[in-house]
Amino acid sequence: MTQKPLFNRIALIGLGLLGSSLAHALKRDGLVNHVAGTARSKPTRDKALEIGFIDSAHETPAEAVIDADVVVLCSPVGTYGDVARAMRPGLKDGVIITDVGSVKAAVIRDVLPELPGSAHLVPGHPVAGTENSGPESGFAELFEGRYCILTPTPGTNAKATQTITDMWTSVGSIVELMDAKHHDRVLAITSHLPHLIAYTIVGTASDLEEHLMKESAQNGDMVRTAEVIKFSAGGFRDFTRIAASDPVMWRDIFLNNREAVLELLGRFTEDLTALQRAIRWGEGDILEDWFTRTRAVRRGVVEMRQAGSFSAVEPQSDPESPNRKPL
Ligand code: NAP
Repeated sequence: MTQKPLFNRIALIGLGLLGSSLAHALKRDGLVNHVAGTARSKPTRDKALEIGFIDSAHETPAEAVIDADVVVLCSPVGTYGDVARAMRPGLKDGVIITDVGSVKAAVIRDVLPELPGSAHLVPGHPVAGTENSGPESGFAELFEGRYCILTPTPGTNAKATQTITDMWTSVGSIVELMDAKHHDRVLAITSHLPHLIAYTIVGTASDLEEHLMKESAQNGDMVRTAEVIKFSAGGFRDFTRIAASDPVMWRDIFLNNREAVLELLGRFTEDLTALQRAIRWGEGDILEDWFTRTRAVRRGVVEMRQAGSFSAVEPQSDPESPNRKPL
């Protein structure tokens, strides 16, 4: 559906899944007249131009942001400080800077000090994604029906926050405002910890497979290979999908949400130990009560229409959903 442009020119720093999806959605709906883009490498910039979700490609952030009304940081969060420093010479007065980063307090910490006083920072996090990355992975529907959390600071200009709210609403998101620290705690448990668990369990399974293969070879038994892949039809299959998420992006998320992740990891470990104990002592009622409670949580997620479609990387994930994109 074509709408009136929200702004004349937008600049995207980073042209992967998030940057390309936003560009596709903005262009599809006629919400912007010109999308300028930059990425670290020339092949990515060339691919973005070839696909057509950007109108101009630029070698540096400073060139990309020239004349932009809105700049969206769509690179891994660990790059934001350097990117903000690099783009500063090109920023026009009154520009709005926003981002899609999965952590928020660190973004404010790294970006705000690098901006000129005339720029407005409206940190944001669309809670939507897939485990795929790169310029070819984006699609315009990614944000439809998904939450986008904005974490303006007390000093953020209200009009700038409204402009970014309008942008996300226009591409189909439901916008919520939140304090950055609160965002980081909530996302630590709904997104960051699940990823850590997936990375751990898949790594442990792979180590075990190697160990079993060595053991069978030493014993002169038939060597059984790839059992992890062969028998991954159960819950493990979903863990492998999540554990396929971009390593650099997730490295940066853990390093930039250290405090909240460590706090919640402590709580998680206590609960895991309680379940371990229940298994050891045959306390089936404890296990059953716990599993009954968690089943109700799943029902709540489905009722809030956040169970389905595209997102493996962010909290919503449902491999059975008919809307899911093929991997
Ligand atoms: P992606 O597909 O891997 O794309 C990252 C992009 O950033 C690439 O175009 C890359 O360029 C570019 N880039 C990397 N370093 C750069 C630098 N120093 N300067 C300029 N560009 C640089 O990643 P993504 O999944 O779109 O994630 C991007 C951001 O979205 C992250 O901050 C992440 O936390 C957030 N996020 C991700 C998801 C998700 O599910 N994936 C969901 C919500 C939010 P090259 O290709 O040339 O390396």
